[in-house]
Amino acid sequence: MANVVITGGSRGIGAAAVRLFAARGDRVWFLYAGNHAAAETVARETGAVAIQCDVADAAAVQAAFSQIPGVDILICSAGIAHYGLISQITEAEWDRLFAVNVKGIYHCVNAALPFFLRQQRGVILTVSSMWGRVGASCEAAYSATKGAVIALTKALAQELGPSGIRVNCVAPGVIATDMCANLDAETMAQLARDSCVGRNGRPEDVAKAMEYLADAQFVTGHVLNVDGGYIM
Ligand code: NAP
Repeated sequence: MANVVITGGSRGIGAAAVRLFAARGDRVWFLYAGNHAAAETVARETGAVAIQCDVADAAAVQAAFSQIPGVDILICSAGIAHYGLISQITEAEWDRLFAVNVKGIYHCVNAALPFFLRQQRGVILTVSSMWGRVGASCEAAYSATKGAVIALTKALAQELGPSGIRVNCVAPGVIATDMCANLDAETMAQLARDSCVGRNGRPEDVAKAMEYLADAQFVTGHVLNVDGGYIM
């Protein structure tokens, strides 16, 4: 039975990960930004412990982890998106994307590290995006944060590997969650047709890939595409 901490566990991909790891019998804590109703639903269904915490806030992350007795697996799924022309994104929006999507991982890794180093064992899973690999028009800032997540993953795999810590990344394609709520049905249908498997992803598809990476003892520094073959 592992101690699993999942950021962004109240909704979407993170919530699917909470459900999967809780169903395995692991002890799960999850962080969420502010959607109490969603967090309570996931906590009630799974028995996981919900902690409200802005991952962009270092002190808040430290306070959250001080409530957690142990960490074996850290899954950083919390993230936000932004759609618009590069000329239209404000500096504040740009900074917020990096604060949540990139610095949030930095804060959570540093909060989990003392547990991992004491055990000389640990697993970190990050969540990038297929747009972090190839970039997306009108999602420049988001793509830049997700590219940074890939580089961060590979750097940490090298730095922390000698301490028994594996660091891997999933790069989802189009996954039907609230993050895609701004896309109309026809756009979603076209995106599904553009993938090899002819459908968009479900949060559970990504959670299964996370489970593989959590268990795969000889895999580190890897970016696993979970996109139905959309990008190769
Ligand atoms: P989602 O359904 O919008 O859920 C986002 C989750 O992150 C929620 O639990 C939210 O908490 C939490 N969150 C947001 N900002 C936070 C903050 N500052 N501090 C703590 N928690 C925060 O998104 P999703 O689709 O599951 O996306 C999860 C991850 O997958 C993200 O990193 C996203 O970039 C990535 N991804 C998604 C897709 C896709 O198509 N859906 C594709 C590629 C990559 P609240 O519920 O409290 O707001």
